[in-house]
Amino acid sequence: MKIILLGPPGAGKGTQAKVLAEKLGLPHISTGDILRQNVSGNTPLGKQAQDFMNRGALVPDELVTQMLSERINQSDTQRGFILDGYPRNISQAEALDNMLKKSGPDLVIYLDTSEPVIIQRLSGRLVCSVCSENFHIKNMPPKVDMACDKCGGKLYQRNDDNPQTIKKRLEVYLKESSPVVQYYNQKGSLYRLSADGDAEMVLNKIIELTKEPNDSHKV
Ligand code: ADP
Ligand code: ZN
Repeated sequence: MKIILLGPPGAGKGTQAKVLAEKLGLPHISTGDILRQNVSGNTPLGKQAQDFMNRGALVPDELVTQMLSERINQSDTQRGFILDGYPRNISQAEALDNMLKKSGPDLVIYLDTSEPVIIQRLSGRLVCSVCSENFHIKNMPPKVDMACDKCGGKLYQRNDDNPQTIKKRLEVYLKESSPVVQYYNQKGSLYRLSADGDAEMVLNKIIELTKEPNDSHKV
């Protein structure tokens, strides 16, 4: 099953994708996570991407699309994957169609989220420096202060989770990424879920969709 999660920054794509990937036994592919690994490993790609990411801008398509295509062609994706963070503009959506050829995505889920919720989530988000699990100072606090529940890794606040960059990322989302929602809607493969509720509630709705896509959620 090939699942794409769409939605603004803070919609909970990463949080949901990680749990879903475990439940369904599919790899979680997050372009943001792969880019951040490249930045912390100081790779040539990381060096090129870093500046764009810190500004809240999109990393150029050529770099991200090449990176994703290499990831999708690895053997663990044969049964499918959960994709989060890509496509982020129409040209990436077209590139993904080409990569997947005839067997397009099975499920495209749009996690619809309101702006106050987005800002509250992003400004309190903590990320594990080892396994990239997400936490939140208030909504999902770690059991031990600043340590990952899963692996004990040190938690940090992302560079781009500051008020100024959050604002910029929301602008970029509205301008570049929200048309992607329309793109899949026109193809008739889009499901919309309200993602303002807590993580478990949203997860349950997603799981229902993966079992039996229900036309009532169709946009
Ligand atoms: P969020 O969805 O919370 O903004 P991500 O981890 O998905 O966070 O992305 C963080 C940053 O990584 C983006 O602001 C952008 O700079 C870069 N990035 C991730 N995915 C893409 C992509 N598909 N195309 C271009 N840039 C990307
Ligand atoms: Zn961890």
